[in-house]
Amino acid sequence: QRYVYRFGGGVSDGGGGDRNLLGGKGANLAEMASIGLPVPPGFTISTAMCTRYYEEGGAFPDSLRDEVADGLAHIEEITGKRFGDAADPLLVSVRSGARASMPGMMDTVLNLGLNDRTVEGLAAASGDPRFAWDSYRRFIQMYSDVVLELDHSRFEEALEIAKEDQGYGLDTDMTAADWRSLVAEYKALVEELWGKPFPQDVHDQLWGAIGAVFGSWQSERAKVYRRLNYIPASWGTAVNVQAMVFGNMGDTSATGVAFTRDPAKGDNAYYGEFLINAQGEDVVAGIRTPQYLTRAAREAAGARAASMEEAMPQVYGELARVFDLLERHYRDMQDIEFTVQQGKLWMLQTRSGKRTAKAALKIAVDMAGEGLISEEEAVARVDPAALDQLLHPTLDPAAPRDVLTTGLPASPGAASGAVVFTADAAEEAAQAGRDVILVRVETSPEDIHGMHAAKGILTARGGMTSHAAVVARGMGRPCVSGAGALSIGKDGMRIGDRVIAAGEVITIDGSTGEVMAGAVPTIQPELVGDFGTLMAWADKVRRLKVRTNAETPLDCRTAREFGAEGIGLCRTEHMFFDAARITAVRQMILASDEAGRRAALDRLLPEQRSDFVEIFEVMVGLPCTIRLLDPPLHEFLPHEEVEFAEVAAAAGLDVDTLKRRAAELHEFNPMLGHRGCRLGVTYPEIYEMQARAIFEAAVLVAEKSGDAPVPEIMIPLVATKRELELMKAVVDRAAEAVFAEKGRRIDYLVGTMIELPRAALKAGEIAEAGAFFSFGTNDLTQTTLGVSRDDAARFLSGYVEQGIYAKDPFVSLDVEGVGELVSLAAERGRATRPDIKLGICGEHGGDPASIAFCEQVGLDYVSASPYRVPIARLAAAQAAL
Ligand code: ADP
Ligand code: MG
Ligand code: MG
Repeated sequence: QRYVYRFGGGVSDGGGGDRNLLGGKGANLAEMASIGLPVPPGFTISTAMCTRYYEEGGAFPDSLRDEVADGLAHIEEITGKRFGDAADPLLVSVRSGARASMPGMMDTVLNLGLNDRTVEGLAAASGDPRFAWDSYRRFIQMYSDVVLELDHSRFEEALEIAKEDQGYGLDTDMTAADWRSLVAEYKALVEELWGKPFPQDVHDQLWGAIGAVFGSWQSERAKVYRRLNYIPASWGTAVNVQAMVFGNMGDTSATGVAFTRDPAKGDNAYYGEFLINAQGEDVVAGIRTPQYLTRAAREAAGARAASMEEAMPQVYGELARVFDLLERHYRDMQDIEFTVQQGKLWMLQTRSGKRTAKAALKIAVDMAGEGLISEEEAVARVDPAALDQLLHPTLDPAAPRDVLTTGLPASPGAASGAVVFTADAAEEAAQAGRDVILVRVETSPEDIHGMHAAKGILTARGGMTSHAAVVARGMGRPCVSGAGALSIGKDGMRIGDRVIAAGEVITIDGSTGEVMAGAVPTIQPELVGDFGTLMAWADKVRRLKVRTNAETPLDCRTAREFGAEGIGLCRTEHMFFDAARITAVRQMILASDEAGRRAALDRLLPEQRSDFVEIFEVMVGLPCTIRLLDPPLHEFLPHEEVEFAEVAAAAGLDVDTLKRRAAELHEFNPMLGHRGCRLGVTYPEIYEMQARAIFEAAVLVAEKSGDAPVPEIMIPLVATKRELELMKAVVDRAAEAVFAEKGRRIDYLVGTMIELPRAALKAGEIAEAGAFFSFGTNDLTQTTLGVSRDDAARFLSGYVEQGIYAKDPFVSLDVEGVGELVSLAAERGRATRPDIKLGICGEHGGDPASIAFCEQVGLDYVSASPYRVPIARLAAAQAAL
């Protein structure tokens, strides 16, 4: 089996299609080389080697030595330099690159091949000793960190002290002699921390680095990133070994990162940052403040330092041509790394750029307009889950703001929360249900879990392409970066003379860069423009209808604005918790006989009716699935003495009798207890009242507006056909009574939720009694897995980590298990009632992967919470493509 694939100098053993084998970086390097772009030559060791490396307990097969030697020979031939040559050495970078991009997750070593002898050769051959010694100290520093895993802060400290001693402000002030003596200090540090001298054999260096890249696949931060992004551990990473090009060879050299379009807003304009006389990581790490790529961007920001367009017009022109070529070639916005060595441009990486939801929409719609992609492709391009970012409120422009400072608008959206200063504190607070803003000098990959837990991220240092900015945009977290006026000390964060202690609330606006004291009120976004265009395209291709889970007129209105085509689940019990009604509800529950219950129900009837009138008015003409009372009654019981007293007064009973009755209602396992249709079987008058309220309301609205809603009355927790028959009879009786009283009929359906395995199995029979099924996949997951939703948090994440379930089955449907019950029930239901209506109303109705499954099984609709309706529309369209 072959593991090494060469690229550059007219050779490309692989190409863009080999992403699984070569990783994204390797595949795209080969692809760029094959279309004639200037790529430093190199080779990729495939991801298959990573898998084998772990299988063999961290060892390489002998055959790999030969293949790597051939790869090196390829680089030597193209560059005309030899690895380890004391006169004019070849230097290489060793870069990781997995199938899915994992920005900043894996480690890279630059300038490999330098030692005490080759550094002299590099100085002589380049005629630039300063550059040579700068490269050597960078190499020792990176190698010590990534490969030897020594404490990197010691190296940073040594550099800071060296600069301070000389009174320098910037790294670029360091002279050749300064770097040389720092190298000596670094080598001493390595001996002290590692117990051995820094490796001088260039081949030892290379194999050490290759092993470290493969090793980094199992690092903690890589594991966290994989878990958050559902990347399987089995994919492995590739290793790229590539000839170095140098952006640190003086003022005609530079390094930069760029996007072919604005990744935050989506505008069709080059967007990026670069640094003169610097090497790769300097831009991302926020060591110096980078300069803008284009003149327009520099002017818009009011910055003084020349843009690349102004400082290096010729190379910039070349770069712009490459941008256009890459965009047309890949038909997508690209995220690019480049280096200029003494006026010559080199491409080091390209990939589809991460972008905000706003930018994703704009870029997809624009590219379809430019004829680069089709409308369907545009629909397929936007991640439905990312729409979430756009649907949530933004800061109210009219609200007063106490602006503390302004940084860079690194990732849009607004967030308020208590200030925390460490990733761990952010995670703890989030687990306790508190909203926090993570404030750091700058972030590093070790902070990922905290960034995920936080509502927003604020950093004092770093540009628009800093780690914080890139990761925040990827996660959809608002982020303000590079707020230079901010410092962090023991007492909290300080801005001028103001100090904000940990726990105090601030607001950040990632669209403007503003940082404000306190919580600033927000407003709803307007869903027009690109959003409307793309959703219209999505609606053209989707087959699944999208309804909403809603029980208040406000939710219904929001959902309709978001495009809901009906209600998939209206939970009536939520209406019972209203303060004005709870006493009557309690009176009903605690009544000792039917007469007592009816008295309380008579009080609830007009209240329920007015609930439904309001909802039907919003949803007029659309189907509305209403679930009759479902939860165990004890959920409504009084707790406080005064509450018992209130109920006692209303019911004309004494408190002690009531308390005895409440104690009788205690259940050991209420979720499997007296709930759902079991309540209706025991107390049919409850369902009768609810059905009456629904029909009276429907008739009222029909009379008023001329267009009747279509109630679909849903009986919960059915396990047998007989239960459904009994409950349907109750509903039908109520309907006939109301229609007779009002002299008007309306259409309605009676159906059931499928949320017990028995119901799924007996769906054929049950369909004889009910006109529709709605898969209640929350309970169905609970009852199928035998896992209690409310107690699962403690062990489920461990299950996901160990690959027992691919995702949390309460978030994304367990297609293999629960899904089999769904498809079996759908099939059996259709067999006895071919026109049966099928939908899903669990949390899964808003989850794109679960929606894809619903399309596969051929359900008629999915139902999602109001804010997830657009996500469901887009996901349904993608499922149909
Ligand atoms: P990451 O995936 O973290 O971006 P990379 O492998 O892309 O890691 O490398 C990190 C930095 O090093 C990038 O800025 C890249 O441009 C630079 N770099 C990598 N290889 C070379 C090389 N052969 N010559 C010059 N710079 C390089
Ligand atoms: Mg990179
Ligand atoms: Mg349920």
